[in-house]
Amino acid sequence: MRYPGRRGTNLPRMGDYNQLVVLDHIRRARVSVSRVELAAVTGLSGQTISNVVGRLLEQGLVQEGERQITGRGKPRTLLHLRPGAGYALGAHIDPVSVTIVLLDLAGTIVERAVVTTPDGSPAVVAAIADEVARMRALVPGGEVVGLGVAAPGPIDPEAGRVIHPPLMPSWGDVPLRDRLADATGLPTLLDKDVAAAMVAELWQGHHELHTTTLFVYLGFGIGFAFAREGEVLSGSSRNAGEIGHLIVDADGPPCFCGNRGCLGVSVALDRLVAEAVDGGVLPASTPRGTPAELDVAMGRLAAAGEAGDAVAREILDRAARRLARGIVIVSDLIDADGVVVGGANWARLAPYLSAAARTEFAGHATMRELHGVEVGGTALGPWIGAVGAASQVLDAAFTPHASLLVAQPAGA
Ligand SMILES: [Zn+2]
Repeated sequence: MRYPGRRGTNLPRMGDYNQLVVLDHIRRARVSVSRVELAAVTGLSGQTISNVVGRLLEQGLVQEGERQITGRGKPRTLLHLRPGAGYALGAHIDPVSVTIVLLDLAGTIVERAVVTTPDGSPAVVAAIADEVARMRALVPGGEVVGLGVAAPGPIDPEAGRVIHPPLMPSWGDVPLRDRLADATGLPTLLDKDVAAAMVAELWQGHHELHTTTLFVYLGFGIGFAFAREGEVLSGSSRNAGEIGHLIVDADGPPCFCGNRGCLGVSVALDRLVAEAVDGGVLPASTPRGTPAELDVAMGRLAAAGEAGDAVAREILDRAARRLARGIVIVSDLIDADGVVVGGANWARLAPYLSAAARTEFAGHATMRELHGVEVGGTALGPWIGAVGAASQVLDAAFTPHASLLVAQPAGA
């Protein structure tokens, strides 16, 4: 079912809100929409729609397209978003790489870059600022409305701080949002990587199929995000979904928390690479001290599995089965009808997860008598976190959200 979107209000003082509601519907329509259709979906009067659309045309945010003839009525002029009317930048930081994208108002990637994550947060801020400056120069007279940043959790959204991100030990507690706002001169928004990825999926993925969606982010760690009818449910501190210590196999590997078979450790790169070394899939000399080395080793384990190595396949299949168990538990918890999996490490487990998830859902899901659950991978690939972060900036600027956290750079 497609998310129906927000309703407007015909009270005269709420004009700006209505403008955002109408623009939001035009964005969500993806192709084009008529004034009559806008009136129907927003609940606004024809006159209000005319006034609002007039202002949007004047501001250059939308443009008129072809005329549509329906039945015996007057032909309707279709409205499109003007993609070049606004741009946003998004950056996604993970322990191995920083991805940066420039999105237009329609959500299309105009420019993209990947840089190796430098050591320490000051160097990461500088690297993002360099790419931001380069990409801003590509926008021909168009406005860049802000920079969205997706970072590993946990985060403090009020203060815009990243707090001891795993696998980035030198980071500590970093006021990342304000440092990036100062370094780039752009309003900056910080969110958790998995929440940003969920937003990207809602805007650009196949979210229309689902009323309640579970997003599983497989990066260096694992994170979950939840959405209901197009809105991310992010919790009281925007950190919902940190369920790495959910026990999915009582006989599983030991976790630093003292239990065995926690979800996080079951799919952790260092754990899977250690199993590959113990099982003889990778040589004992395999470098695995840094996130970048672990990433390379994990790629070699996946390649061995693809080439038919039985031990590699068993390691990855076991991880996929434990992951599937976690997905089923959380799906039942929120009564999801769709699961989307993405993140840097997703492609390595994807060949094993589909079958494991089918078996787990058929055997263990409580909701299996009531409805199916569709499990699929994201179509947004490695760009999903950065696209989501930039989409959040467009949301904050052009849609009727009141709650997103945008810091103005000093002196702006
Ligand atoms: Zn644990």
